[in-house]
Amino acid sequence: MLSKLKRLEQEAKLLEPNRKTRVSLAQEIEQFIQDFFDEVSNSPAYQADHYRQSFLSILETPSLRSDWLNQLKQYVINPGVNVTSPGFLGYIPSGGLYISALADYIAAATNCFAGAYFISPGAARLENTVVAWLCQLIGYESTAGGTLTSGGSMANFIALVAAREEKDLPACNFSRCVIYVTSQTHHSNIKGLRIAGLKEAILRYVPVDNHFKMKTHLLEQMIKKDRRNHLIPWLIIATLGTTNTGSVDPIKKISDIALRYQLWLHVDAAYGGFFILCPTVRKIIQPMSLADSITVDPHKGLFLPYGTGAVLTKKVASLLTAFYYNEFDYLPNKNDLLQISSTSVSPELSRPFRGLRLWLPLKWYGLGPFTAALNEKLLLTQFLYHQLRKDSRIEFACKPQLSVLTFRYHPKKGDANKFNEQIFEKIKADGQVFFSKTQLDHKTFLRIATLSFRTHLDTILLAIDKLYWAIEQINKT
Ligand SMILES: *Cc1c(COP(=O)(O)O)cnc(C)c1O
Repeated sequence: MLSKLKRLEQEAKLLEPNRKTRVSLAQEIEQFIQDFFDEVSNSPAYQADHYRQSFLSILETPSLRSDWLNQLKQYVINPGVNVTSPGFLGYIPSGGLYISALADYIAAATNCFAGAYFISPGAARLENTVVAWLCQLIGYESTAGGTLTSGGSMANFIALVAAREEKDLPACNFSRCVIYVTSQTHHSNIKGLRIAGLKEAILRYVPVDNHFKMKTHLLEQMIKKDRRNHLIPWLIIATLGTTNTGSVDPIKKISDIALRYQLWLHVDAAYGGFFILCPTVRKIIQPMSLADSITVDPHKGLFLPYGTGAVLTKKVASLLTAFYYNEFDYLPNKNDLLQISSTSVSPELSRPFRGLRLWLPLKWYGLGPFTAALNEKLLLTQFLYHQLRKDSRIEFACKPQLSVLTFRYHPKKGDANKFNEQIFEKIKADGQVFFSKTQLDHKTFLRIATLSFRTHLDTILLAIDKLYWAIEQINKT
């Protein structure tokens, strides 16, 4: 038995390389990363997909070639939409701050257990500090709380579960519960309701105005009618920065209605939340502090790599009610805790130490460059809007409220939907910039969403050039 143990130990120890091996591996990867960052400002926003299965397939024995990093780049990193390119103007752009990548390296290597205060008090305290900072930023009082999540979808889901538990809704009442959304509500909320067991609840789509904002007088009428019909108006989901047009629902008015009829107000600010830093739009954003729960997405508005969202609730107690669990023998009692553990306010236990990737850039740079970058995005969008407005063939879905511009081109002849689809395809195939497209009232619109910290004036000028280049190409054929 002892000789067998020795043999197994010998083999298992391959998982713990010595310093020389570590340094050489790290240097190889470091070189690769530095090349990536040197090239990223000129990298295309879209590349065609190709892959080699033999590179991906996992075998019993080591199966990487010495040029594996190049293969990784070729078959894994490059294909498809390149969200790190400054020319990526589709969907909601994300970031990929270098300093956060380094923070992730530290977090993964040291593998701190940030989920529970008694296991890693330092990591838990850091995350609680970051969450408290987020709460303060959006205007919550000290009774607020929250947790860092993998992204906005998970944050929305957690908020909906907290809302369900706070109301203490028995399942037999779900089918009488009414939830108010609009056609512009992000689908992750609807999905979140389903996975929270609420698919039987009644979903009411409150009509939107011509800026794609919820019509609050209709919201109130619907709630009154539902009450009269003995239903249970329960939850309003408002959006601060819709995906299609970047529209901001009138949060103050919605909050007044939520208070009057005692509904839970969730504000999905995954895209728009961090524009609270920008004086020109603060007025429409500030009322989010009236919400019972809020989703923000630091991997959008604070330019972090994917994997960081946050859910905040006006009262931390709402999260504890939904997620605290003390029946494990090996976890300490709630009363033993000097600080909140994230496991007490979220569905997760073991999880990555997410706080570090958010904390380090804020400590390193301060808020200044983040605020500047966000102000720049708003101004770039206004610039783009004013440039495109000179062309009478361009129709706008609405005036841009944040940093999404949604528009369509009216060709001299032929079907406008088809023409805009063609513009989208041409620009995608060219690859230098990437727009996205959407449908509003059965019309195809193009979207330019400016949120990457790498997107500056030169990219927006390039985007305009590419738009007219694409139009010319299509007109020629
Ligand atoms: C991006 C986004 C989401 C989803 O967030 P993920 O981080 O992609 O899970 C939800 N709501 C809105 C408004 C968004 O912009």
